[in-house]
Amino acid sequence: MKNRQKIRNFTPFLGLLSIIIITSLKIDPFGFSKYGLEPRDIFVIILIPAMIYLGNIYCGWFCFGGMMQKVIYKIGTKIFGKEKQKKLEVPEHIHNKLKYMRYIILIMWVISIILSAFGIIDPSVSKYIKVTLMGILSVITLPFALFTERILCRYFCINGAIYGLFNKIGIKRIIRNNSCVSCKKCDKVCPVNVEVSTQRKVTDLHCINCYKCVDDCPVPTALNIEIPVKIIS
Ligand code: SF4
Ligand code: SF4
Ligand code: SF4
Repeated sequence: MKNRQKIRNFTPFLGLLSIIIITSLKIDPFGFSKYGLEPRDIFVIILIPAMIYLGNIYCGWFCFGGMMQKVIYKIGTKIFGKEKQKKLEVPEHIHNKLKYMRYIILIMWVISIILSAFGIIDPSVSKYIKVTLMGILSVITLPFALFTERILCRYFCINGAIYGLFNKIGIKRIIRNNSCVSCKKCDKVCPVNVEVSTQRKVTDLHCINCYKCVDDCPVPTALNIEIPVKIIS
């Protein structure tokens, strides 16, 4: 099972390679790049059949930016240690509010597209929100990534907000079974703070489908990646 996590160390390079290829081919369906459509979004469009089946796998498997945040957090662990990281982690009451921030930015982006479609504002505003603002937030949050795992993904990334919607339609989900002993290890290892131990079926919009909770669960049958029975029958 741990092999799956080892594979995840390499797949973001495939994502990066795809972005390089798409960028060099200058693929721009529907002329949507003026609103901020990025090469990574085109890669996700190619991934849609897999995302319909498995949910948002782009973020957990192919995003190079996501992998960089993981690396920075690991550097933070080496420098400061786990205990210090825990103390400097975003407090729960702030996390519970801040997690909606990426949806506020997403709504701003959608509104800007509608307004520019009616000629009220320039499309460059949409591009600014989706690309420039994201770039600025990536740089600002970088030092905090030493203490908070995937801080950009959790709170600010508009792409993750869009791709996460696939978790609601993903056919194959993580299911928690009755053999769970409520040790909460799954909650502790989740890089984006999903409370797996309280859910029967993981459809959380923030889940990146890394399957770390499944791989680190001490009870082999407690968490399974499967098609929920209701869908099968
Ligand atoms: S949320 Fe954004 S930065 Fe994080 S993995 Fe997804 S696309 Fe990448
Ligand atoms: S790690 Fe496994 S056994 Fe522990 S709470 Fe999570 S699902 Fe249950
Ligand atoms: S809930 Fe599990 S699969 Fe989803 S992000 Fe957390 S650890 Fe990864």
